[in-house]
This record gives sequence, structure tokens and C-alpha cells, in this order.
Amino acid sequence: MPWCDTCSKFWTQPSMGEHGECPACGTVIATPPKGVPWHFKVMLVGLAGYLVYRVYWFAEWFPKHF
Ligand SMILES: [Zn+2]
Repeated sequence: MPWCDTCSKFWTQPSMGEHGECPACGTVIATPPKGVPWHFKVMLVGLAGYLVYRVYWFAEWFPKHF
């Protein structure tokens, strides 16, 4: 829960302003939830590509060994 130093009060996420500011004094006390960072998306795409490659590799390898 975000704490406002100025007001000495805890605030719940919905009671805060759109940009994470304290509803009483307007000080920004929490960073608003951001979207997924771009490098995380790149990592997911890379991971998905790697998994597809591994599945393809296994599908190729499996019939040759059994
Ligand atoms: Zn405040």
C-alpha cells in the first residue's frame, strides 16, 4: 500500500490519482502500473522462438531414434 509522507497516511491503489498521486496533497507516492516493458516482450518472443525450435528439433530427432 502506498504511503504518503506528507499526509502520514496509507492510500489504497484505487483511491489514488491516475498518475499515482496522493488524493489529499497531490504528491506522487506510487508509480502507476506501466505496460509490459519492451525488453520483456523481446525476451518472450525469443523464448517462444526457442521453444518452437526445440519442439521442431525433438520432432525431427525422435523418429530417428526409436
Ligand atoms: Zn498526501
